[in-house]
Amino acid sequence: MIFYGKQSINQDDINAVIDVLANGLLTQGPRVPAFEHAVARRCHADEAVAVNSATSALHIACLALGLTAGDSLWTVSNTFVASANCAFYCGATVDFVDIDLATGNLCASALRSKIAQYQAQEKPLPKIVVAVHFAGQSCAMAEIAEICREHGIKVIEDASHAIGGEYQGQPIGNCQYSDITIFSFHPVKIITSAEGGMALTNNAELAQQMRLLRSHGITKDPSLMANQQPMPWDYEQVTLGYNYRLTDLQAALGLSQLHRIDEFVEQRNTIARYYDSQLADVTGISALHQHRHCRNACHLYVVLLDNPAHRKPLFDALLAQGYHCQVHYISVASQPYFVERLGADLTPENSRIYSARALSLPIYPELALEHQQAIVAIIKATLCNLC
Ligand SMILES: *Cc1c(COP(=O)(O)O)cnc(C)c1O
Repeated sequence: MIFYGKQSINQDDINAVIDVLANGLLTQGPRVPAFEHAVARRCHADEAVAVNSATSALHIACLALGLTAGDSLWTVSNTFVASANCAFYCGATVDFVDIDLATGNLCASALRSKIAQYQAQEKPLPKIVVAVHFAGQSCAMAEIAEICREHGIKVIEDASHAIGGEYQGQPIGNCQYSDITIFSFHPVKIITSAEGGMALTNNAELAQQMRLLRSHGITKDPSLMANQQPMPWDYEQVTLGYNYRLTDLQAALGLSQLHRIDEFVEQRNTIARYYDSQLADVTGISALHQHRHCRNACHLYVVLLDNPAHRKPLFDALLAQGYHCQVHYISVASQPYFVERLGADLTPENSRIYSARALSLPIYPELALEHQQAIVAIIKATLCNLC
């Protein structure tokens, strides 16, 4: 069975992990800061804080930005649930900004009108906006950052799909237009550390706060301790933190994978261009719009069906030949937990339309051309019968 995504592990990756197992520290050791420095350098950010998942990174990013009970966070409904759950973890609530149907990304003008609508109704604005770089293509960050700055709203980039991508010729993760950027290293993402995530920032205080939060709120740094003459064995818990540490085994794998990030993104783009070229003239289906000023990391390749009723037969036809596609995403706001907690399905209009039509085709570096060709042939044959 071919799934929509899959990791690419080579002998160097295996050797890197074995070396830690044989000679290293198993929990957070020297590979963690090495991985952090390498990602920060690659992405032109000042600081990087590695954690055990992007979900954890989103949680401590929200805490570091002061999200608390009574606050709200806005994100899109076309994302993984974690982009929104981070609000609930902090006791805050969540609401959803609509997407641009052409890209699946947060729509800057929808953000602007939602803010205007809230102001007209004298409802409080969110403390944080989480912009998700859907499928690996950056949101319009310059516009989003400007809107948020006008209203004192903090910005987190959920770049779980997008490490290795670029916006305005600069690496995603440089935080030029955000307070914090989050990456995921889950095996389906661009590079993997098995489980893992990272929070990047150019703000040293936010980085220090996130480092505390990932490890129980405990510090050995005398400048942060109440006791100004600590003994060598002293440590202090100065805030309520968590155990969100990445292991050295995971950091070694992530560091090794990082060497191939450009190759991975290139291979993903090659597959995406192949699908683009083969599917351009097929009636009943369209691809997402690719902005010229963005280098897309191509985590996902999504097709939109003109007729939502064609999705199930197409899915079945692909599955019958061994290609297990996925939907990215079922609207977060439509999930039963969200409906119950928020009192209604708050899915915005374009997000609802999008979610009924989207289907993600397999895309990952080792996906052979023969599979790409077979997938295209199945799509053409199926839609030809349906349309
Ligand atoms: C994968 C993903 C996450 C969560 O990543 P984990 O590392 O599995 O916690 C969050 N947001 C988006 C958009 C994702 O795709």
